[in-house]
Order: sequence, then structure tokens, then C-alpha cells
Amino acid sequence: MTYDIWSLAEERMHTLYRTEIPSLILAWYQREKSRLQNTDVEMLLAFLCHLAKHFDTLNAAFTLRGRIGASLVCWLLGISEVNPLPPHYYCLRCQYVQFIKQKKYGWDLPEKTCSCGENMLHDGMNTVYLAEIDLKKRIQIDVDIPDELQEDVQRQLLTFFPDQLFIRAGFMDDEMVKYVFLPKTDKATVDPPDKMIRMNYRDAQPEVYPYPSIQFYKSRQDTLLWQLCKKSNVSPQQIPWRSPDNTRSYLQYELPGILYDNVCDNAALIKDAHPGDFSGLLLFLGFDHATIEGYDEIKAAVRSHPQTIYELDVFCEDIYDRIHSHLEQKGIADDSLAVHVADQARLGKYIRSGVGKETQTKLLSIGILEEYFHYLSKVRYLFPKGHMLTRLVRNLRLAWFCLNMPVTWEETQAARYAEERE
Ligand SMILES: [Zn+2]
Repeated sequence: MTYDIWSLAEERMHTLYRTEIPSLILAWYQREKSRLQNTDVEMLLAFLCHLAKHFDTLNAAFTLRGRIGASLVCWLLGISEVNPLPPHYYCLRCQYVQFIKQKKYGWDLPEKTCSCGENMLHDGMNTVYLAEIDLKKRIQIDVDIPDELQEDVQRQLLTFFPDQLFIRAGFMDDEMVKYVFLPKTDKATVDPPDKMIRMNYRDAQPEVYPYPSIQFYKSRQDTLLWQLCKKSNVSPQQIPWRSPDNTRSYLQYELPGILYDNVCDNAALIKDAHPGDFSGLLLFLGFDHATIEGYDEIKAAVRSHPQTIYELDVFCEDIYDRIHSHLEQKGIADDSLAVHVADQARLGKYIRSGVGKETQTKLLSIGILEEYFHYLSKVRYLFPKGHMLTRLVRNLRLAWFCLNMPVTWEETQAARYAEERE
């Protein structure tokens, strides 16, 4: 069975970005397509496209984890709201597209009227999708969903793939459920009536099931959002989370900790440093989505001088950006050095064995300073930027409720605490 996600993605691309698609956008799309086409990712994305539409009818939403959240294909399919392209304006009436260098992120661009008189849309979070889903290894997509929808998601999965065999494995009392797509050759081992076998996956070697899989995590924030949407009969899609008012509120007030992924410390930091836009906000969230050696000292330094954080962009997945901009200045089109270093640092390779001599030489030759190696070798793990951004979108929706429907917000919170006490 093949899953055609491409016609839908291409149709949407033509609707938004002209019949004659700007070359940068087309090249981006084709780069992703060439890596994902004819792989099992197609099947997983086709399902998520179906799930997004289904959730929409319930006034619910899910949040993609991992770097796939910043894929142009996912954005076109309506699975993610993070458009990875460089910052740009586009006009839905005359289809004029204009790329802008003055801001780092498209969500920070000021409002603008097109020459045709229409208000232009602005987007582009400048997030290189490093589409290195390593197709030789296992393909897995992780998704956050509201608690109560875990069973519904399973029903959707079985309906969408009527002939597919799965292994379903629950972890931590089903806080997370993993579905492994089993090849037909294993049919004999599966109980035919429900097409499912249940097992304790922890007891099995993961290598035994190197097949594509999708994992659903019950998430407190996604659950809260769904409860708020249900209670007020608002679809998550309708929430103007990107309006300048909503962003300003998120940045300027100290909101409940849950809106900062429960890092109350960070809420205080944000309040102290007053970042003025998404760019600043991402720096703070990124800083917190990193596991760094000496984190407490670094945090203390930021607390006494909030502006220090602007020197620490290495900890929010800006490694690729930094190296890429140096490569560009030197007129080097090949970005493989930036991809390599960002990936190695993100996964904590440099904290274990340092930055290798050969890589050091290459970095120095394009003007990266030696002290940068010091930062690189402090990183244990970095969230991919796509992950940070998709969580930010969800939290901004929650912030909108908190600020605009305070009574509903309080009631829902109170009900949740009562539930949790039981
Ligand atoms: Zn126009």
C-alpha cells in the first residue's frame, strides 16, 4: 500500500506560494521529498494527517515531538504549525512572496500591506530541518496527545490501517503507548482477532523490532488545552496565538509555570530579561530545553545578568545557524560541516570525547573562535528546535486562554487539581 501525501502537500504549496513556486521554496520541498519519498515516513505522515483532521472535529490538537515538527512537508500537510523556511511575507490574493533578512524569525516580522492592498501573512521560523531521519535506523515519530484520547487514537490507527499488524506496548501505566508496525511475515505470531499483541516492551531487545513505530505520550499541557477548548467550544485552530497581543502578554507577564513547561525559574528569568519577541523567547526556552554541564552556574550567571543569555545561543540549537552563517560568509555552499557539528553536539558526543582535531581545524578555518569549542563540549543533549517551537505553539494557545478567559482557565485548573488529588 502506498500513501500519497505528496499531491496534497503540492496542492497546498501552489495555493499559498503561487503556481510558479519561488525556487528557494521548491528546492526546500524537493530536498525533503527526496529523503522521505518511498520510506515508511510517508505512511506515518499520512496517518498524522488523518489524525489532525479527526482531532479537529473534537476541538483537540496534538503536538509533534522531535525535529520532524519543523518539516515543510508536515507544515503543508497541516500536521505542524512550524514553517521552517527563512522569514518571509506572502499574499494570499496576488500570491506575492517576499523573503526578508531583517528578522531572524518570521513570527517577529511587523504587519505589512501588499501592493495589491491585501494584508500579507508572515511566517518562516528559519529552522533547518536537517532531514537526517536516518533511514537505515528505525523510523519513529513521537506525538503528545491529551490523556483521554489515547484509546481513540488507537481506534483511529486500526481503522486507518485495516490490514496492518501492530505490536502495542504501554510504558509507565500507559503514559506512553508505542505502536510498532509489524511486517506481514510475522503474521503467524499475532493473534488474528484483534490484530494486536500486548507485551512488556522493556523486556525485549529493541533490535528485535527494528520496524517503523509511532509513540503517543499523554501530555498534561495537551490535556489542559483540550479541556479548555471543550469547555468553551473553541477549536485550537481558531485561537489567535500568533497575534502580537498574545505574544506580548506571554512575554511580559508572569504566567503560571505550566506555560513555561513547568520551569517556574524560567518564567522569572523571562520577566527579568524582557525579551521583546519570539527570537528572545526561544532563547530562554531553548536554554531550558538543553541539558548542559554546569547548568546551575550558567543559570545563576543569567539570573544576575539576564543579558548574558544572548551569548549562550549554542544551548538552544543555534549551532547549525552559527556555523552555516560562517560558511556563507566564506562563500561555501556545502552545509555538511554545520549539519555534522550540530548533530554531534546535540547528542552530547563532544562532552564525551571533545571536538576532534580535524573538526576543530575546519571550524577555525571558517572563523569560529576557539572558545566556542568550550561551549560545544558542555552540551549533554539539546532539544531539536522543531520540538521547542511546536511546544511553544501549544503553550501560546494555553496562554491565550489564561489571559482571555480567566474564569474558564481557573475552573479547568481547579477541576484538574481535584482530579489529580483523587
Ligand atoms: Zn498581494
